[in-house]
Amino acid sequence: MEFRLGDVIDDYCIKCRRLTNHSVVSLMEGQVAKVRCRSCYHEHTYLHEQAPPSRKDLKKAEMLANANSESTAEALVSDPQQPAADTGNPPELEPSPSPDPKNSRTRVPKV
Ligand SMILES: [Zn+2]
Repeated sequence: MEFRLGDVIDDYCIKCRRLTNHSVVSLMEGQVAKVRCRSCYHEHTYLHEQAPPSRKDLKKAEMLANANSESTAEALVSDPQQPAADTGNPPELEPSPSPDPKNSRTRVPKV
């Protein structure tokens, strides 16, 4: 298919951020070199209807990657702790040493 100046073709417009009608404004060896958006008249090289990866897309991909790693970490942290096994026995109390009356006598050291 041969293009001619002024032909209307679809291409991705960076300004409109979508596929729009473009007019061919420059040809290189029978191939479309430059087009002009018919919506906003922005002139740019022919993108072959391919949207270039924008910074927003790159950032979104980065955020997605971060979100994935965060959710993984969160899953590890939010793992519910196993409650202490309930044995049904009252907690063992440390037997308080009852003072032995025999030993309670204060010994007066001989001087
Ligand atoms: Zn446009």
